[in-house]
Amino acid sequence: MTTIGSTGIPLPVLAEGRGPWPPAPPSEPLAVYIHIPFCRWRCSYCDFNIYAGMQRWFGRYIAALAREIQRFGGAAGRPQARTLYIGGGTPSLLPLPLLERLFEAFHQAFRAPTDIEISMEANPGGLSLTYLEGVRSLGVNRLSLGVQSAHPEELRWLRRDHTFDAAQEAVAMARAAGFTNVNIDLIYGLPGQPLARWQATLEAALALAPEHLSAYALTVEEGTTLHRWVREGRLPPPDPDAAAEMYEWTRERLAAAGYMHYELSNWARPGYACAHNQVYWRYEPYVGFGAGAWSFTGATRWMNIRHPKAYIARVEAGEPPVAEVEPLDRRTQMAEMVILGLRMVEGLLDERFRSRFGQGLMECYGPTIAELVTLGLAAWDGERLRLTPRGQLLGNEVFWRFL
Ligand code: SF4
Repeated sequence: MTTIGSTGIPLPVLAEGRGPWPPAPPSEPLAVYIHIPFCRWRCSYCDFNIYAGMQRWFGRYIAALAREIQRFGGAAGRPQARTLYIGGGTPSLLPLPLLERLFEAFHQAFRAPTDIEISMEANPGGLSLTYLEGVRSLGVNRLSLGVQSAHPEELRWLRRDHTFDAAQEAVAMARAAGFTNVNIDLIYGLPGQPLARWQATLEAALALAPEHLSAYALTVEEGTTLHRWVREGRLPPPDPDAAAEMYEWTRERLAAAGYMHYELSNWARPGYACAHNQVYWRYEPYVGFGAGAWSFTGATRWMNIRHPKAYIARVEAGEPPVAEVEPLDRRTQMAEMVILGLRMVEGLLDERFRSRFGQGLMECYGPTIAELVTLGLAAWDGERLRLTPRGQLLGNEVFWRFL
């Protein structure tokens, strides 16, 4: 490894694949992501880096993950973690002893103050109180449940492996296990979904009183079962106007219910915005472990090998499991910081941009910003650039202009 930029995050050396990995403590605490690429089966809309039917690989995968994490921690001088996010996939498929092994590796590799946010994603189906108590006792203090819909037919064709009853039960068990920070993920804009049905889903989710809600518009990704169904005419394509209407209603309803809209697709009770995800939107460094995980130093990002078997083989051979390294030129960094910053409802402070690049937003993007303001998509008050409510509906219309 060599280090790069001001962060001092160790970079993997790809050429020989064997290091050296000199200790170089990062200059600031790191957001840590761990990817668990396993699911019971693939949901119809999902194009994530996940694999079904790999239960017998769980043990070797966690051993490889532990090794990758410890190797990084050793090279970086046991840096401080600011957040930990265990995502997937379905991390809650892992038995508790394997999760314990993962946490052991994390604590050996990172200094982690007891109050940092530790999130874990879980599917409502198949959870038990004992399991959630075990997860909580490992230090997980934020549980993110993939609920998606309260409508049985929608859950069926989305190919979710749970009912809404299971989601209600999961939230009750999470509370009983001591979780005081629960997120619920929902999807809207489904093919043929009437507004009233989305409203019923959101109301049912609100009745569970989560601290955090994520609501994503469905996108039909190539290669998914859903894409095939739409192509074959078995389902209509999602209607963007209907999705926009749902989004507008969602914003109003969640504001009335006391949730703060802090990112385009995310709402939280005051004090419960996701600290880990804000690191991504603020364009700050993070390190990712596991198959297909991304890391980012501020000037470079790299991605691990995507397939778990190839990832395991590489780690077991004592080599960095890195598939590609992407150095980011200054223009790209600027554009990415603006685009990600605009996802935050508060927008991007000129001062933050200037302190990173030595130039202000207007110097770099004056004509683009002026055009967006004229179109009513963005607002600029001399200190901060943010999307207008209309711009939030048409984010992509805004983002491409910075690329
Ligand atoms: S549970 Fe999540 S990650 Fe797994 S297949 Fe479904 S959408 Fe994809």
